[in-house]
Amino acid sequence: MSAIAPKGWCPSLFAPMPAGDGWLARIKPPRAILTTVAARALAQAATRFGNGAIALTNRANVQVRGLVPDGLAPFAKAMVGAGLADATPAVERRRAVIYPPLAGADPSASQDAVAMAAAIESSLSNDPRFRGLPAKFSVAVDGGGLLPLVGTNADIVVALQEETCLITPAGSEVAGRASPIHAHRAVLQLVLAFQEMAGEHAPPLRRIRMLVATIGAAGLLSAAGFGTIEPVPLRAIPKAVGWLPYPDSAYGAFGVGLPFGTVAASVLAKLADLAERFGNSELRLTPWRSLAIPGVEEPKAAALQAAAIALGLVVDSRDPRHAIVTCTGKPGCAAASVDVRSDALLLLPLNLSGPVHVSGCAKGCAHPAAAPITLVGEAGLYDIVRNGSARDAASACGLTMREAAALLGVEA
Ligand code: SF4
Repeated sequence: MSAIAPKGWCPSLFAPMPAGDGWLARIKPPRAILTTVAARALAQAATRFGNGAIALTNRANVQVRGLVPDGLAPFAKAMVGAGLADATPAVERRRAVIYPPLAGADPSASQDAVAMAAAIESSLSNDPRFRGLPAKFSVAVDGGGLLPLVGTNADIVVALQEETCLITPAGSEVAGRASPIHAHRAVLQLVLAFQEMAGEHAPPLRRIRMLVATIGAAGLLSAAGFGTIEPVPLRAIPKAVGWLPYPDSAYGAFGVGLPFGTVAASVLAKLADLAERFGNSELRLTPWRSLAIPGVEEPKAAALQAAAIALGLVVDSRDPRHAIVTCTGKPGCAAASVDVRSDALLLLPLNLSGPVHVSGCAKGCAHPAAAPITLVGEAGLYDIVRNGSARDAASACGLTMREAAALLGVEA
């Protein structure tokens, strides 16, 4: 399989994408939860119909790689049967909400966030006014707590606080304020305003951040009917790996990072065993390419950590693998000229502070935002971009990864 997908193709379960290593399908587990039963079904199907390689995306979705053409239909059937997808392709394609990772488990997170996320998801999936939304469009509903949804690639972030909601378009430093009871409608008004204003451009703008960069966030929020517009408070991306104790509780969640965002199907099945043995039989998906096992009793956390280390997973934010974000690269992606995951191993001894983005090409799929260091593959070599994204101008070009690591090592 060497076909290259058309530019802008966003794969789904029912519209998989040709890639360098076979067909790629994207699964959006409802509410970002994999029960252990569903996780085993996913692992089994990924091995039976694909090459057993599973990746997490920055929208807390799952990608299954290396699917054979004859396996596409039975794989989709298996995922619907496991409760991991809607049986209606049009509805499945439009499910576009990033759920709070620990909602319902972390007592310090908003208890209303899941209901709000579900209401927004239902509207975007079923209301005909949203049929034309771009495939990559997404809304993140942040319920706060231990894992607030900071640093996602969503077009809109809805931050639910006790008595209010801040609604922020991507790329904006200001947000609209709405009461929780009106937030659902306010989000839909913002999406409608985006659709109308984006459609006035030729070609239409596909992401909210493009519209914000063109007309400014205040104009968009005003068009959507927000009367109160205020600065967005700065918040750090949460530490999503290791022990995450619930406040005033003997329980917590345990976060495990996937090295370079991938996990073998066999390891996912073993993680399901650990979630049953130590937690509440769930794996929660996060947009930081990690999984969290909720409902772990504190005295069992050390044994769970040891078991996760034995599986080769990241359990400490100081692990140098935690700082590095890669895309698929060669050979899985036909657009890549470099094997980013093998090459990224040369960066580990440098202990760079992240995020360090190693991208197979200038598209920058794994981390569209700016990073302190981005290495971009080009004709089998790398360019280095500082404080920018994979599309920005490089400060050094045409380096082997060994040369790039030597340069970065001197500076570190
Ligand atoms: S960024 Fe990586 S995964 Fe995306 S198209 Fe380029 S090489 Fe492929």
